[in-house]
Amino acid sequence: MKKKLLILAGDGIGPEVMNEVKKIIVWFNKKKSADFEITEELAGGISFDKHGEPITDKVMKIALESDAVLLGAVGGPKWDKLEFSKKPERALLRLRKDLELFANLRPAICFKELANASTLKPEIVSDLDIMIVRELTGGIYFGSPRGVEKLSNGEKKGINTHTYTTSEIQRVARVAFELARKRNNKVTSCEKSNVMEAGLLWREVVEELHKNEFKDVELSHMLADNCAMQLVRNPKQFDVIVTDNLFGDMLSDEAGMLTGSLGMLPSASLSGKNKAGKFKSMYEPCHGSAPDIAGKNIANPLASILSFSMALRYSFNMDKDADMLDNAVKDVLSDGHRTADIMESGKNKVSTSQMGDLVITKLK
Ligand code: NAD
Repeated sequence: MKKKLLILAGDGIGPEVMNEVKKIIVWFNKKKSADFEITEELAGGISFDKHGEPITDKVMKIALESDAVLLGAVGGPKWDKLEFSKKPERALLRLRKDLELFANLRPAICFKELANASTLKPEIVSDLDIMIVRELTGGIYFGSPRGVEKLSNGEKKGINTHTYTTSEIQRVARVAFELARKRNNKVTSCEKSNVMEAGLLWREVVEELHKNEFKDVELSHMLADNCAMQLVRNPKQFDVIVTDNLFGDMLSDEAGMLTGSLGMLPSASLSGKNKAGKFKSMYEPCHGSAPDIAGKNIANPLASILSFSMALRYSFNMDKDADMLDNAVKDVLSDGHRTADIMESGKNKVSTSQMGDLVITKLK
């Protein structure tokens, strides 16, 4: 069976980093008969320039028919002044919405070779490997009522509403429990049940699901503010953290920075499974289009390469190949090769394309 991949390289450094991913996909097709079928399309500013839309219906149809979408990055100063509905970032929102990608997986992995790049002490972050599961399509970013109201006394009132239903909490918690089973079997669920009714419901629903379906997984609850502190105090205490859209936004950025560089952070966004066990997925680096370094062949492609490794693991059940790719990245770093963003004295500075080639030399 062919594995259908849609590549949306996007803007800025997107095409540069995706080029390196494509080389790796070609390697898997050649050496492992992996049968990936690649379709490349436009998304973001480049799509707006050609079609007047950040993503077209035709591309969305291909995305819906693909086994996984690999995205580079979208956006840049050229499109900053466009009206909201035409902005490159709308492509991302539409992909998330139409593919129903409600679970955002953001690993924070700190390779010991890069522990010095973190602002925390190396012993706190070296070999860190945690996974944040952020709910992506609900909560305060989407709840209604929302808006800005004029009050009779001349003041204005800004309103956003934080809502979650039982099923919205269950489905994202289920993803977290299932992931934990593949990792160190521990889930920490974060909310503010001390001050928010929706937080209390979150805690109750997670507990109920745990009792009914995931008793074998260790579950603990933590208030989200405490979690923010614990992430910098002792991040290695965590395995999988599951939390809502707002707290997940903050906590995943905080955890990401423990690892030192934006150029190293992959992510995956997943939908629910249908009856046949199939689901939609999109994989992308956490960084943006980095217009300041675009076109110079100096961007770090490892976040995109590690995102592809997540695709192998989660969309294609190719865990051994994903391990091999992760290890190839580790080996290249151990050998002392660094792109500019993670460069240290005494190491060998390499370009975007050299980094991709080096990873391939380590694949077996
Ligand atoms: P950014 O992530 O593009 O860049 C922030 C800084 O990190 C820059 O100095 C950049 O050079 C550096 N950087 C980022 N990725 C790197 C890599 N792989 N290798 C080396 N250095 C890297 O964030 P920004 O500057 O705030 O945003 C630029 C544009 O990207 C904006 O238009 C923004 O809207 C968009 N954006 C898109 C996404 C996405 O597509 N998912 C995410 C964030 C920002």
